[in-house]
Amino acid sequence: MSPLAPTGRPRAAVLAAFVLVAGCATHAQAQTQAQFEQCLVRLQPAAQKAGVEAASFRQFTQGTQADFTVLEKLDYQPEFKLAIWDYLAGLVDDERIADGRAMLQRHAATLQQVAAAYGVDPATVVAVWGVESNYGRITGKYPLVSALGTLSCFGRRQDYFRGEFFAALRILQRGDIAPERLTGSWAGAFGHTQFMPATYERLAVDFDGDGRRDLVDNSADALASTANFLRRGGWQSDLPWGFEVRLPPGFDPALAGRKNKRPLAEWAERGIVAVDGQKLPNSGLAAGERTAILLPAGPRGPAFLVTRNFDVIYGYNAAESYALAIAHLADRLRGGAPFATPWPTDDPGLSRAERRELQTLLAARGHDIGEIDGALGERSRTAIKLEQTRLGQEASGRGGQKILNALRSEQPPQATVAQ
Ligand code: CA
Repeated sequence: MSPLAPTGRPRAAVLAAFVLVAGCATHAQAQTQAQFEQCLVRLQPAAQKAGVEAASFRQFTQGTQADFTVLEKLDYQPEFKLAIWDYLAGLVDDERIADGRAMLQRHAATLQQVAAAYGVDPATVVAVWGVESNYGRITGKYPLVSALGTLSCFGRRQDYFRGEFFAALRILQRGDIAPERLTGSWAGAFGHTQFMPATYERLAVDFDGDGRRDLVDNSADALASTANFLRRGGWQSDLPWGFEVRLPPGFDPALAGRKNKRPLAEWAERGIVAVDGQKLPNSGLAAGERTAILLPAGPRGPAFLVTRNFDVIYGYNAAESYALAIAHLADRLRGGAPFATPWPTDDPGLSRAERRELQTLLAARGHDIGEIDGALGERSRTAIKLEQTRLGQEASGRGGQKILNALRSEQPPQATVAQ
């Protein structure tokens, strides 16, 4: 959730897809552990200036091992980029919708209080929760002091990470969160909301009034902190994030783009209509409301008209695909329909349940794809490639409906690689 998050989103849900390299202590790493300890000694005066008392610094950094795997994450360049339809198929699937509706019920009283206090509706708050941490289930396992300490001493962007490292130490010093509970993504986003430590300091709130702002073990604090983040970002409680629209024939795609804002009435004049064919404006928007058109898959895919509230969601993670996932999940939690316009592909994406099914079908054919976790990592993609080749499909390594259906129809599965 950091606007400064390096190389895209270091979210735990994404990280779960990676396999950690086992930590074998090579000579080079032993040297670097010594360098790490020297670096911590050098950082201490700066930490003190930033409000971390010398005794706290000692207490919370003593015995910390550098974690070199975070440096690999920092420099990791994904060669495999998810298409928007794959990204959304995994993030807004039946499971996450059902789980989110259950959360809306379970936390109804808290969410009503949060809505009254911050002006952000329950479905939006719960949708952020669902996308950020799968409702608090996937929050990251990296001890923050080790991860942020390492990033403060080595690699790119040490200045940025030092600010986050000191913020993490201040959180521990205040006793808001116990040291063993302060774990998160490799880059330091932690808790139900996946706030970076500095964002936590600015925006986390103690909603249950126990004197601690606990985004790790307290869902009321987490839900209210998310709402506070959105409110402080400029959330308008009476404004929808936007909605799907239909473009007129010959619409100039150059007019699209989140920053290309025009009054709603102007889009109406240009022939844009609601997806059900009704004329704009609708959904309670004023004709003068400044809105933009998003074409996340180009002019042949679904089109969206978005408001300032979409920008506020975007502020949580600075990616339009991410903001669209949250916005759409919120709509689905309210009972809204899937997008009316299909994505421009003949091979739609897979839900997490379908990804697990695909992994099961691959494993049944003797492929070593590791844990069946619904995350199609490198080993799954290698296996998919082999099966695509065997079946005469394009060997893309991408898990979509085509390869899933082809494997489903082969019953019973035959082992196609040596066990
Ligand atoms: Ca609290």
